[in-house]
Amino acid sequence: MRPSSQALKPKSSHDTEREFGGTLGAICIPIFLPVTVLFLICVSRSPEASVLQWPPSLPSTDQLWDPLAVVLLLGWIALHTLLYLMPLGKVSEGLALRDGKRLKYPINGFHGLCISGVLLMLLLGLGAPLGYLFELMLPLAACAIAVSFLFSVYLYIRSFWAPSHALALGGNTGNPLYDFFIGRELNPRIGNFDLKYFCELRPGLIGWVVINLGMLMKEAELRGSPSLGMILVNSFQLLYVGDALWNEEAVLTTMDIVHDGFGFMLVFGDLAWVPFTYGLQAAFLVVHPQALSALGATAIIGLNGIGYYIFRKSNSQKNQFRRDPTHPSVARLETIATATGKRLLVSGWWGLVRHPNYLGDLLMALAWSLPCGFSHLLPYFYVIYFTVLLIHREARDERQCRAKYGVAWDTYCRRVPYRIFPYIY
Ligand code: NDP
Repeated sequence: MRPSSQALKPKSSHDTEREFGGTLGAICIPIFLPVTVLFLICVSRSPEASVLQWPPSLPSTDQLWDPLAVVLLLGWIALHTLLYLMPLGKVSEGLALRDGKRLKYPINGFHGLCISGVLLMLLLGLGAPLGYLFELMLPLAACAIAVSFLFSVYLYIRSFWAPSHALALGGNTGNPLYDFFIGRELNPRIGNFDLKYFCELRPGLIGWVVINLGMLMKEAELRGSPSLGMILVNSFQLLYVGDALWNEEAVLTTMDIVHDGFGFMLVFGDLAWVPFTYGLQAAFLVVHPQALSALGATAIIGLNGIGYYIFRKSNSQKNQFRRDPTHPSVARLETIATATGKRLLVSGWWGLVRHPNYLGDLLMALAWSLPCGFSHLLPYFYVIYFTVLLIHREARDERQCRAKYGVAWDTYCRRVPYRIFPYIY
C-alpha cells in the first residue's frame, strides 16, 4: 500500500507536543546532566560519598583532561565500528518507515561483546593495568561528554540534508535548541551504517561492563581480591548487558528506534550517561568496601533472579506476540482488537500490569544497589533515577498508545488498571 503524502510529512511545529520540558528542558538538560555525571563520579570516590555535601564535589579542569582517555575512548568507538561492520550474525529488517521502506540492521552486538571480552582477557594476560580505569574515569567521562556534544552538532547539521519523511515526528519543530536536543533525523545513516542503532547498545553499554571490570581489578589491587559485593554488581550488570545484546533484535521495535529522533538526548544517554552512571555501585565499592553475608548475598541474587525473570519473560512474550501472534506460546492469550489491525494483550504478563517489563527492570536495579549496604544514598542513585525515568517513559508510551489505539487503549487501561506496580501504581 502506498503511504499518503500526509503520512510522509513530519508534524508542523504548532501541533507538536514538546517533551522533556520543551525549550527550557532542551537548554537545562544538556548542562545539568553532564555536570551530574562528573559530580557523581567525584562523590563516589570521596571518603564521605555524600550527594548532599556542600559545597558539592566537582572536579578541577586538570582532573578532566588526560590524552590517554581520548585515545582509549576513540579507539573503543573505532573497535566497535569495525565489529559492527564485520559480516557476523544475521541481518534483520526494522519496522516499516513512513515511506513504507524497511531498513536492514546487522544483529551482531552479542558477537561484539564476546570479541571485546576475548580481547580484554588477552590484554589482562599481557599484564594490562585495567584497574587504571578507576583513575581515568573522570577524563574518560569528560571525553565522552565532549564527543556527545560534537556528534549531536554533526547530527543536527546533517539532518537538513535528509528528506522530510526521514525526520522524526516531533523532532522538527523549527526551534533549533529543542530539535538539537530531541533529534531531527529518525535513522541517520552513513551508507548502511546506522548511527543510532550503533550507539544504542554497543560502545556505551559494553563500555559500562568494561569500566565495571576495571573497578573490580582496582579493588583486587587494593585489597588482594575482589569483594563479594563487587562480584555481584559485576555479574548482575554483565547479565543485563549480555541479555540486551543477545536480544538485540528487540531494540528494533523500541520507542528509541521507531519514534525518537537521534539528537543530544539519545547520544548523550548512550555514550556518556549509561557507561558512567549505571555502574556507580562498582566505583563506590572500590573506596567504600562493604561486608556482605552469604545470606544477604543469596537474598540479593534471588531478587535479581526474580526481576530478571519478569523482565525477560514479559519482553519475550510481547516480542513474540508482535512477531507472530499465532505462535503456540502466545496464541491462547486473551487480546483486544484495535482499529489499526494490531491487537493488545490483556492476559499473561501484559494482563498483570501495563508495563511488567519495567517492574522486572526496577527489581533488578534495586538488587544492583543492595550489595553496597545502607550507609550511603549514592549507590541507590541508579534505582531512584531509573524509577523516575520509567515512570516518565511509561507516560510517554501511554500518550503514544492512546494516539495510536484510541478507545481500544482505554479499554485496555480499564482491564489492566495498574501501570508498573500491581495494586500500587
Ligand atoms: P516496551 O517494550 O515497554 O514497549 C512499549 C510498546 O509495547 C507500546 O508502545 C506498544 O507498541 C506495545 N504494547 C504495549 N502494551 C501492549 C500490550 N498490552 N500488548 C501488546 N503490545 C503492547 O518499550 P520500552 O522501549 O520502553 O522498553 C523495552 C525494555 O527496555 C523494557 O524492559 C525497559 O525496562 C527497558 N529499558 C531500559 C532502559 C535502561 O536505561 N536500562 C531504558 C529504557 C527501557 P506497539 O503496540 O506499537 O507494538
